[in-house]
Amino acid sequence: MTIFEKIVAREIPAKIVWQDEDVIAFHDVNPGAPVHVLVVPKRVIPRIAESTAADQALLGKLLLTTRIVAEKLDLLTSGYRVVINNGPDAGESVPHLHVHVLGKRKLGWPPG
Ligand code: 5GP
Repeated sequence: MTIFEKIVAREIPAKIVWQDEDVIAFHDVNPGAPVHVLVVPKRVIPRIAESTAADQALLGKLLLTTRIVAEKLDLLTSGYRVVINNGPDAGESVPHLHVHVLGKRKLGWPPG
C-alpha cells in the first residue's frame, strides 16, 4: 500500500481539503509553499507516464479538482502552480499519482 492509499483508507491522518468518490486533496506534510496541497486519485495510478486512455476521465477530474482547491484556499486571484513529478529526475518520491497545488508565495521559474 502506498502512503497515499493509507490516507485514502484513513489509516494515517491528513488535513483533507476536499474529497469525493474519485479523488482526495490534502495538505502536504512537508509544504514547499504556504499553500501546498496534493490532489490524489483514490484508484492507484503509479505515475502519469503509466496512465492510459482508460484513465482519461480520472485525469481530467484531477485537474478540475485543482481548481476546487484553488478556490477553497483563495488562490484564484494571486495565482498558483500545478505540478506533477514523474520519475527520478523529477524527484517523484511516492509511486501513486498526485498533483501538487502550490501557492501563496511568488514561485520561481524554471523550477529547480
Ligand atoms: P513527489 O515528490 O512524489 O512529487 O511528492 C510527494 C509528496 O508527498 C511530497 O511533497 C511529500 O512531502 C508528501 N508526503 C509524503 N508523505 C506524506 C504523508 O504521509 N502525508 C502527507 N500529507 N504528505 C506526504
